[in-house]
Amino acid sequence: MLNIQLSHSYFLQYDRKQWERGKPYPPLATIQIAAFLRQRGHRVALFDAMLADGVEAYGSALSEAAPALVVLYEDNFNFLTKMCLSRMREAACQMIGEAHAAGARVIVAGSDASDQPDAFLAAGADVVLLGEGVAALAALVERLDRDGAIDNHAWTVGIAGLAVHLDGQTQVQRIGIQPPDARLVGHPAWDLVDIERYRAFWQARHGYFSLNMAASRGCPFRCNWCAKPIWGNHYRQRDAIDVANEMIHLKQAFAPDHIWMADDIFGFYVDWVDAFAGQLQGAGGPIPFTIQARADLCSEAMAAALAQAGCVEVWIGAESGSQRVLDSMSKGTRVANLIDARERLGRHGIRVGFFVQLGYLGEELEDLLATRALIAQAAPDDIGVSVSYPLPGTKFHEKVKAQLGRKTHWEDSDDLAMMFRGAYDSEFYRQVRDLLHAQVDLQRSMTHATADCLHLVRASLDARWDALVAGEAAHRTEQGSQPAMATLGHA
Ligand code: SF4
Repeated sequence: MLNIQLSHSYFLQYDRKQWERGKPYPPLATIQIAAFLRQRGHRVALFDAMLADGVEAYGSALSEAAPALVVLYEDNFNFLTKMCLSRMREAACQMIGEAHAAGARVIVAGSDASDQPDAFLAAGADVVLLGEGVAALAALVERLDRDGAIDNHAWTVGIAGLAVHLDGQTQVQRIGIQPPDARLVGHPAWDLVDIERYRAFWQARHGYFSLNMAASRGCPFRCNWCAKPIWGNHYRQRDAIDVANEMIHLKQAFAPDHIWMADDIFGFYVDWVDAFAGQLQGAGGPIPFTIQARADLCSEAMAAALAQAGCVEVWIGAESGSQRVLDSMSKGTRVANLIDARERLGRHGIRVGFFVQLGYLGEELEDLLATRALIAQAAPDDIGVSVSYPLPGTKFHEKVKAQLGRKTHWEDSDDLAMMFRGAYDSEFYRQVRDLLHAQVDLQRSMTHATADCLHLVRASLDARWDALVAGEAAHRTEQGSQPAMATLGHA
């Protein structure tokens, strides 16, 4: 039996935007791995960086756990880990250095480490797992358990899908991206999480408590900017009854008011959602939950099934109101899908949020105005706006990597800096973001504001758009120097 410390390096403290948003979730993938290792008979402790005061807190947790093995396994369900934020990498490297200095073997896994193992090996990691890495991790743990003094060469030889530093050189044995490992079953090690700390945080910020779950791993679609270093285009869905049973367990053990389903795409099949709903109804009903989904999967039958299952909110990767931009992203959805999905879900009493992306390659002023028109027509309940971010390993990254300067990663998720030469500068996109949010605020207030008041707010918003469009030339980059084709139309 090994003494193992599981950890991750996403510190909410270090991400200003997410700290202000104040919606932290336990590291689901990390506690899935904790449960996996415990099923194999090992003693497992958790250092949960999410609500820790800072990386300084790691030292005492390390001393207390005194592990033979540290596994720094990032939460692959937290989309922020895909961004490989530089502040989190710094924290990870500091933790790795401390664990190494304390005499523990150190294994690291996550999007950033899969993409750039060197940085983590240089910080003192013995092994970097490439991709999900469950098979390699199981093999490494078994060998170390048999011989705690095994040298790194004997420890890692013949195990595929990892990177090591041996004889002064980095050796990377990639095996291509594997499907989600079928052995990772069973419920996460919820007992390792300081649930009361999360509850207190949520209650103080929002007056309710939300926990997270995942019913699947991966996504089979191929949007060409979406990073898939862990599961590629594979998709593995859990059994609907098992997922419902986990929700029932969370309800009985922790009584959350809400669940965030962390899947890239929840449900997928109407039959699956029906089975999930049926099991919950037989056990006292669901906990209200939020999901992410694609517009083209939100059929009438799916909207009805989701409502029946207890879904209260769906976030859709809308990205753009311009079909031209959606096509250039290989998104595979139509603008009409977005409008239909929003209308259908709304009719079933489900709130709808749109993720919007600004500044994609080739996006022009007329495309931005099409996004404005989409938000006005579909009237989502909420939006999340970002600029296109060249995630390592994507086709989009390949196209723009020659333009990337010294800054290749955002420091935190509020950065919103253009890292390649889009049509406009970062300041312009920040203004568009603010105007889109103002549009949604206006739509929200329509139910309780007076007609006069609404008229004034709408006129002021239109004037801000007019000013932005009139001054667009000042924000055009060299890349975007062709004249804008659009004429302004008010929504
Ligand atoms: S559907 Fe979503 S998760 Fe899947 S590839 Fe597209 S953006 Fe990524």
